[in-house]
Amino acid sequence: MVILKVEHLNKAFGGLVATCDVSYEMQTGELSAIIGPNGAGKSTFFNLLTGYHRADSGRVLFQGQDISNWPPHRISRLGIARAFQVSNIYLALTTYENVRQAILAQQKRTLNFFTPAHRLAKKETAELLEVAGLSQHAYMIAGNLSQGDKKRLELAIALGSKPELLFLDEPTAGMSGEETHETMGLVKRLNQEMSLTILFTEHDMSVVFGYAKRLTVLHQGAIIAEGSPEEVRSNETAQKIYLGEEA
Ligand code: ADP
Ligand code: MG
Repeated sequence: MVILKVEHLNKAFGGLVATCDVSYEMQTGELSAIIGPNGAGKSTFFNLLTGYHRADSGRVLFQGQDISNWPPHRISRLGIARAFQVSNIYLALTTYENVRQAILAQQKRTLNFFTPAHRLAKKETAELLEVAGLSQHAYMIAGNLSQGDKKRLELAIALGSKPELLFLDEPTAGMSGEETHETMGLVKRLNQEMSLTILFTEHDMSVVFGYAKRLTVLHQGAIIAEGSPEEVRSNETAQKIYLGEEA
C-alpha cells in the first residue's frame, strides 16, 4: 500500500532551486533513505512534506489524502512525525518530562480534568524511554545528555505523537561510529517491531548501507539516482557526485 506519494514538487528560495521536480513514493512499512551532499535539498524536502515550507508547485499525498501545504500541526495529527536535524528538545527539562510532554500533546483531547498531573501518561512515557534506550537517564536534565542520547530523545519525542510515518533528518549527525550504529539499530527496530514507515536523510553514503532498503540520491534539489544500496553504489552519476565532493 502506498503511504506517501509526492508529485512534481518544486521549491525555490529566491533564485535558488532547492527542490526540483521531485516525484517520490513510499510503501507502508518501508525503511528508506534520502542521501546527498550538504545543500542537496534533503531538509527542504522534509520541510515541504511536513508543512514547514510551502511548495511552489506539486502535490503531497498521505494515504491518498492531499496534504499539500497543510500546516505542520494538522499534518502531525494525521500521523506524520519528524525529528529535526536541529534539536527540538526542551534542554531545561528532564528526559522523562520531554517524552511525557510529547505524549500529552498527542492525548490532549482525552485528558481528564481530575487525573493528577503526575500520573498522566506515566506508563506510555516509561515505555517510550525503554524503547529508545533512555530509561537510565530518565531524570537527567536533557541539556546534560550526550549527543547520542539527545538524538535518541529526539526520536522518543517524535514517537510520542504515535506516528505511522516518521521522517528523520540526519538522525546520526555528530555521532561517533559506535553511536551511529546503535542509533541506526534502533531505527531498524522501530521499523520492524513497531511497523513504522521511516524515511531518513543522511549525507554520508556509508552510513545508510545495511539499513535502508532503498536509497534516493538528491543533488541540487533533483533526484538523480534511486535503487537498492548496491544499485546506487554502482550508479555512475551518484559516484561522480560523491567522488566530486571528496575531491
Ligand atoms: P541539505 O539538507 O541537503 O543539506 P537544505 O535543504 O538544507 O540541504 O538546503 C538546500 C538549499 O536550499 C541550500 O542551498 C540552502 O542554502 C537553501 N535553503 C534552505 N533553506 C533555506 C531558506 N529558508 N532560505 C533560503 N535558502 C534556503
Ligand atoms: Mg539538511
